[in-house]
Amino acid sequence: MTQTKCNSCDAGPYNGYSSYQRHWAMKHSETVTIFQCSLCTKKFGRRTEGVAHQKKLHKYPRQLTPETIQNIHYIDPKGVLPYKEYHRERLRQKRKQSEVASP
Ligand SMILES: [Zn+2]
Ligand SMILES: [Zn+2]
Repeated sequence: MTQTKCNSCDAGPYNGYSSYQRHWAMKHSETVTIFQCSLCTKKFGRRTEGVAHQKKLHKYPRQLTPETIQNIHYIDPKGVLPYKEYHRERLRQKRKQSEVASP
């Protein structure tokens, strides 16, 4: 895969779609889901981090409480869609156009 730059801000390039998606989730979605450890007050951006923490500090994984919070890093994408959706939208429009064009 070719390197991907964010199509909304100048971040990147990303060498994989998943890291680009992570960036999008971190910066361009208004809310983020965090996970709080049920045994202490630590919070994690990713469930796997919380599980790793629990295994390490509490010996075995317990409950992680998901919580939706306002994203403090939020950057308004100004109507720009992430790549995949953008391409899907373009394909849809192309199809629509060819439908109109064909007799
Ligand atoms: Zn961006
Ligand atoms: Zn904990």
